[in-house]
Amino acid sequence: MIFVDLIFCLSIYIEDLVRAKIRSDMLRRYLSFSLIMFLAGCNTSQNNKALFWDDADSLVSKIQGNNIREHMIILADDDMQGREAGTENYDKAADYVINNFKELGIQPLPNNNESYLQPIKFTETRLDLTSPKMSITNGTESVDFAFRDEFIRSGGYGEINEEISAPLVFAGYGIISPEYERDDFSDIEVRDKILVLLSGAPPYFNTAERAYYSSGRVKAETALSKGAVGIVFIRTPVDQKRRAWEKYLPGLGAPGMRWLDDHGKPYQGFQELKGTATMSDTGAKKMFEFSGHDLDGIFAHHEDGGTGSFDMNISAHMSRKSIRREVYSSNVLGFIEGSDEKLKQEYLVYSSHLDHLGVRGDGEDNIYNGAYDNAAGIGAIIEIAKAISTMEVKPKRSIIFAAVTAEEKGLQGSSYFAKNPLVMKKSLIANINIDMPYLGFPVADLHAFGSEHSSLYSAVESATSYLGIQFTPDPLPEEVRFVRSDQFSFVKEGIPAIGLRPGTVSFDPDIDGAKELDNYLKNYYHQPNDDLSLPFSSRGAEGFVRSALLTGLIISDDENRPSWNNNDFFGEKFSPK
Ligand SMILES: [Zn+2]
Repeated sequence: MIFVDLIFCLSIYIEDLVRAKIRSDMLRRYLSFSLIMFLAGCNTSQNNKALFWDDADSLVSKIQGNNIREHMIILADDDMQGREAGTENYDKAADYVINNFKELGIQPLPNNNESYLQPIKFTETRLDLTSPKMSITNGTESVDFAFRDEFIRSGGYGEINEEISAPLVFAGYGIISPEYERDDFSDIEVRDKILVLLSGAPPYFNTAERAYYSSGRVKAETALSKGAVGIVFIRTPVDQKRRAWEKYLPGLGAPGMRWLDDHGKPYQGFQELKGTATMSDTGAKKMFEFSGHDLDGIFAHHEDGGTGSFDMNISAHMSRKSIRREVYSSNVLGFIEGSDEKLKQEYLVYSSHLDHLGVRGDGEDNIYNGAYDNAAGIGAIIEIAKAISTMEVKPKRSIIFAAVTAEEKGLQGSSYFAKNPLVMKKSLIANINIDMPYLGFPVADLHAFGSEHSSLYSAVESATSYLGIQFTPDPLPEEVRFVRSDQFSFVKEGIPAIGLRPGTVSFDPDIDGAKELDNYLKNYYHQPNDDLSLPFSSRGAEGFVRSALLTGLIISDDENRPSWNNNDFFGEKFSPK
């Protein structure tokens, strides 16, 4: 058996070489890659070699930088007014995606009444900026805090006019982690109290655990489970360095959104937490000084996590008014049916958020165009859909393309879809998410956030190695990006997922990619100037989007369904066996 297989494989390998009219600069790479594939293929059986590899060069060449750019030019135009979820401008962008789907022969999802839209009912909230008040008292004296300079908060999902008085209790990072045997609540009682918590998680936590436990939602869930009535966040020195306080201010009063469940309740609205705020660095200092506790001493220990927990012996009084309304916004969903009679019942999901921040403030340029966040991501999935739609033999599994709404409001569209996928939830086998790919230089590497948790890692590895793109680990684990985009909505439903992002290595030795990306993140990310005047590299875009295409094809054609690694943190948490 082995001998026959070997000869069969070898003949295919030689055939491949002869058939491939590849350019000489690609030859070396192709040879080494196809040898790996050949050896891997012979190890099991030739039948496992996915068909698309025969044509991979011509397939990836269908991804062209100028086509991706064209989508960006339309979606990031001032005309789209920043595509904010719940506005007509978002709907216009959705129409654009639908028209592309139609042209490519991408089908609406089964059971969706021939529609590409998945409408979602949301409640929208915005803070009445004249309303927020906050003061603390020790029983005899009290001090007020200034909104903006000393604290900020957003609109709520509970009562329109809210008011609360409750004792403050410091509870470290507010984390209960069995993995690290850490319980910030072990020696304090927090029922009916407002928690004062450090942002983030201890740096000694592994990236996955740190990302998960840093999430404000996880902290809110923990707080609720303990009967707390609010959370006041204190920014650690890590966060103070990451983001200047002024960067938060333009977003004040911007609408938040939560989708409504069957009972009309906002999903993760946390309306029971009436006392929520984030303190500025000066506001935090003032609060701790007033309570007679040493914040610098706590900060000195925040790295090793030894922050302690204690009653602050003061109470806070907080009030606010929220402006609320119901709005609809839709995910745009299409799919290509798989070619394998059995496996086509399973779906790989490519997702990318279509919404951005809209129009804010009254500055000279107040349109948040979101060219890289995330017109570029939508351009990428449309071009991936286009390439796959041209394949004579389609991938074995079906592939869903999801342009999701309200990511900027807290992963809302993706969370709704992952919970209500219109097909059977257990038929979703994996998610590849593309969010905010910065392509301003000829980027030569790629990160796959979350890939280290599942078998998806090897798909990314094969795809990038074929294309001569480096596959590099997340360089900024403290940014906890795995949980900060739509892939995390799938993870929470137990579905292996990755977030693909171009890295910082440049094909052009004269360009310092790390500096370019840093410049984008510091000076353009979530600002009106993330627009079409930023540079765009076709070569960078092609390497990145081709990697995303091949990764998806490898996953779709693999006989084995993707799986979480043994004893993986996310696998255990959300998909326990
Ligand atoms: Zn964003």
